[in-house]
Amino acid sequence: MLNFRLARDPFPKFQALLCNITSHSKVVGVLYWSPIPLQGVYSAMPASLPKNHSTFSCCLQESNLRSAAGRKPSRALALLPVVLLAATTLSTQQHRIQLDDLAKVATLSDADPVASAADPPADLVLLHGKIHTEDPKRNVVQAMAVRGNTIIAVGTDQTVSILVGPHTRTIDLRGQVVLPGIIDAHIHPARSAPDLDKCNLHGDSISATELRARAAKCLKENSGDAKSWFEVVQVDAVGLLLTLDDLDSIQSDRPMLIVSSGSHRAWANSAALKAADVTAATKDPIGGHFGRDTNGIPTGTLDDNAIDIVTKAMPKPDVDLNAAQLDRAFTAMRARGITSVQDAGVDDRLMQVYKRLYDTHRLNMRVRGSYVFDKAVIPAKAFVPQAIEFRKKWAIDPYFLRADAVKIFLDGVIEYPTQTAALLDPYLDAAGRPTDNRGPSYLPQDTLNHLIAEADAAGFTIHIHAIGDRAVRSALDAFAYSRKVNGPSDNRDQIAHLELVDPADFPRFKALAVIANLQLDWAERDDWIVKGTLPYIGPDRARYLYPARSLRNAGALIAGGTDWGYSFDAFAAMEHAITRSEGRGKEPLFPEQSIGIEDIVAAHTINAAYALKQERITGSLEAGKRGDFILLDRDIFAIDPFDIHDTKVLATYLDGREVYAAAAK
Ligand SMILES: [Zn+2]
Repeated sequence: MLNFRLARDPFPKFQALLCNITSHSKVVGVLYWSPIPLQGVYSAMPASLPKNHSTFSCCLQESNLRSAAGRKPSRALALLPVVLLAATTLSTQQHRIQLDDLAKVATLSDADPVASAADPPADLVLLHGKIHTEDPKRNVVQAMAVRGNTIIAVGTDQTVSILVGPHTRTIDLRGQVVLPGIIDAHIHPARSAPDLDKCNLHGDSISATELRARAAKCLKENSGDAKSWFEVVQVDAVGLLLTLDDLDSIQSDRPMLIVSSGSHRAWANSAALKAADVTAATKDPIGGHFGRDTNGIPTGTLDDNAIDIVTKAMPKPDVDLNAAQLDRAFTAMRARGITSVQDAGVDDRLMQVYKRLYDTHRLNMRVRGSYVFDKAVIPAKAFVPQAIEFRKKWAIDPYFLRADAVKIFLDGVIEYPTQTAALLDPYLDAAGRPTDNRGPSYLPQDTLNHLIAEADAAGFTIHIHAIGDRAVRSALDAFAYSRKVNGPSDNRDQIAHLELVDPADFPRFKALAVIANLQLDWAERDDWIVKGTLPYIGPDRARYLYPARSLRNAGALIAGGTDWGYSFDAFAAMEHAITRSEGRGKEPLFPEQSIGIEDIVAAHTINAAYALKQERITGSLEAGKRGDFILLDRDIFAIDPFDIHDTKVLATYLDGREVYAAAAK
């Protein structure tokens, strides 16, 4: 005889734990719902639970549940979108049951605190606003109520104000706009946070002489430890050629590393090359390149994986220090309205930094990590088993910290002089003549096909870096292979950046259920485009740079990301998605590729939630979802798009709590 008894949360990690399943007063299992399809969390369950899943399959019979249920379902539970019944055996034994049944089961215990018949008052009620719910109908409502961490009602002032009780905090929005919290679908918080303390040139276009002056200024203002490395970051690499003499003239005593925005090119001075033991005898790594003189001696220029060889020689950073830096970065992100992030490249070390914040109750951000396939370190065959281990190890909290995505780089960057983006047709030279450079292929198609099919079969969201049209096609070909082998997927596979896409590939995103993960902050005629890209690809291809409108019209789901390092300003990205221009009066970049405000807001909220596999709890403001939302100082749906970047976030709420409030004027 199995009994269902509401648990007093014996596993704090599972915030939504509902019942212990007991047999003769012994706990034999647990029943909980999860808004996120999870794999790997089961390993975190207590070892004391029996490993025999037959105990569970008997209680998973819907008929058993029905006959056990005697009372009407709780209203609060009826809001939960999906339930997941977990056995102590692993992911092969996932069973979904209808929420009706779960609701009935949950009412079996008299101690059930969520099954109360009358609705208690809300903790927080927002009235008189323009609340853009981003629900499937894109409804705009006046009012919203939150209890605990959950939205309990949205609607008119009249219907929602019923939930105001004596202790309810009420906010009069006075017509202000409310949006779901911004979800950044491609960003590098833990990796980039230490940059806050480095010499940061903010991607400004710069000559070698200016670089020397800016670095000298940094050294004067904050020279740091004279024995440690000197690091310059966010350097605009477009057209910047630095000799070893240039580098040593900036800094000769200490090892120095200069890293470009986007981190695909870097420069090391002689001291750094020496520290990393890089000599003429050092071979280029797979997926990387050392600049060399005619004698093969490295000249300090590093591309892609050659950078890692040098950074590995740097002293190991301190987790506490990095966590403090990340805390500062997240504080700044919350002030720009971000409440969830998809880290587009994690390893153990970066997950440790997130976990340090989590363990010290400072992780006020939902974080999903994407485990990076580093082809220089891991053979393709070994990657997916490793990623499965990684996912298990870092299944810390289904709502706040997990790593159930993988990241694969298929090329580098398109800009001159790096030109490591994989193109279908060759790059042009400065005179517009075809060269013989099409950019490298980071992975053979066959290897990629198998890698992706294997990762898909294991349930990972696959997140591909593809800049050039050949890399995009290669990714789509591999997804097509995977669909053929594995059938349709709900893994939310995605290709990020998509700087150049061949028109023949636009419809394939929808057909293959691949999300277009776009960073549209870059869709403007800046130096990167005007000097670094347009002359080398020619006008025919250029029309399909950041082809947001073409992708949208072909039915692709568009998710938005900022790709910080450089900037985490989603409002700037929204503005550029619409204007395709650096500012008022400036020539736009192929304005026919512009998308509308509704499209780009959805990209940074509900679509990004879908890309993170967390749309059941975030991304829109609907009863039953978590209270992640932001208050804005202006109506971005009504104003001149050129003013969107100036938008101020007045307050940010996460899980129903205020985690940022602008200082009152
Ligand atoms: Zn990135």
